[in-house]
Amino acid sequence: MDMLLPVLFFQFGACLIIAQQVARFNPMEKNLIKTSGNVDRLSREGTQMTFSTQTERLTVERLLGRSPRVPFEIATRCPDGTPQVLRANPVVWEDNRWKPFPTFLWLICPRLKKLVSQLEGEHEITVMQKRLQEDKIFQMRFIEGQRSLAERRLQLARELVPEGLEASVERVLRETNIAGSRHIFGVKCLHAHVAQFIAFGSNPIGEEILNRTGVCSLGIPCDETATLLASASTDVSDVSSDSLTPGKDVDQS
Ligand SMILES: [Zn+2]
Repeated sequence: MDMLLPVLFFQFGACLIIAQQVARFNPMEKNLIKTSGNVDRLSREGTQMTFSTQTERLTVERLLGRSPRVPFEIATRCPDGTPQVLRANPVVWEDNRWKPFPTFLWLICPRLKKLVSQLEGEHEITVMQKRLQEDKIFQMRFIEGQRSLAERRLQLARELVPEGLEASVERVLRETNIAGSRHIFGVKCLHAHVAQFIAFGSNPIGEEILNRTGVCSLGIPCDETATLLASASTDVSDVSSDSLTPGKDVDQS
């Protein structure tokens, strides 16, 4: 119980940060969507654009608005190459112990972030909350997706900490949904649900919202800075990282 408040507080803050990011853009890599052939195809097209490691880190930092607090990987990319969803480590070493880090997936595509924020402003969280309570099939699909997510998160955490996790940490990872809520039907943040659907599928809320926003495509730029770089040079990795962002070094990857 003592873990609950800090976890919820952090997650709420993370969602606010995501929602406050303004439009620019992104692409993808692995853990591709399994349930949507359309998104999968478009995302795979994005893999043709590559960034150098340092440039990529700076791009991610710019899109996130800060340095990630835990190690992450780019789970998916938009078709133009922009990092789209980040997957963070589920545990973080802090104060001499492993702590849960329930913000597992981050939606950082500027286009999607902006559109999803608009839907949140139109009270779509309440609409989805109601749908979860009233539509039993929708509810079952959601529960199945959250269970699968919890298993994935726990497995990764156990791989990261082979000596074993504290029981309280395992409990938080098992019981927290993608939006950081200990209540299975706590919708809270649409960005998180969209991120889960894009990265792993199995999230009917994310699927529904993505149907409203439309998937990212080459015809719709996601990140103006990435587009400018791509048109200015055929070798993006040659572009000085200074021209991308003045941000400080990201100490995780
Ligand atoms: Zn995008």
